Amino acid sequence: MSESPNPSLAPTLESLGLARDRPLVIVDVDEVLGLFMLGFGAFVAEHGYELRVERFALFQNIYRPGGSEHLDLVEGRKLFDEFFRSRCGDIEPAPGAAQALRRLQHQAEILILSNAPAEAKALRGGWLKRHGLPQALILSSGPKGPITAGLVTQTMGRTAFVDDLIPNLDSVAEHAPNTARFQHVADLRLRPLAPRSSRHPRIDDWADLGEAIEASIR
Ligand SMILES: [Mg+2]
Repeated sequence: MSESPNPSLAPTLESLGLARDRPLVIVDVDEVLGLFMLGFGAFVAEHGYELRVERFALFQNIYRPGGSEHLDLVEGRKLFDEFFRSRCGDIEPAPGAAQALRRLQHQAEILILSNAPAEAKALRGGWLKRHGLPQALILSSGPKGPITAGLVTQTMGRTAFVDDLIPNLDSVAEHAPNTARFQHVADLRLRPLAPRSSRHPRIDDWADLGEAIEASIR
């Protein structure tokens, strides 16, 4: 059984500029709307390291050039935090994402729900705006089910959720079971490595994903 949503966890839709009487589509940023691994890899390279996309992981993929042991996880975390503090506005949008969301906006309210440090808010918001993406944004942390439950309970419309990570999709299945869920993995190198689950449809093409979301909220 799902826990009752904790209202203090989720901001009101009103405060985000979103209507309660339309469907609500909640969308992740990294590896869904934006090519995080590509951007973070470039940042890591500037710092003299290499990001090898060899497994579906982050810090375990950072190496010294030619090295065979991944960088210390604490050092990796420092790079990650610095990327979000200063450079997360530089990533490329996922192909087709902005177009699909512009179409969806005719049918639904769109909310961007990104697990990222709070310091990233201005850069991430500016990035959304610059690429013609919807701008209602929440930066969060941890499994996304509880906050999603707190958001979807406020709308009278149908709801959908998109993320690349199975733990977030499972968390939403548990806490907001009536919300349609879709997995999308934007990075071509990550696609064969990313775990999938029969519980959530996996759609890596944004044009197809947009249509599936549209059907789910109709
Ligand atoms: Mg993500």
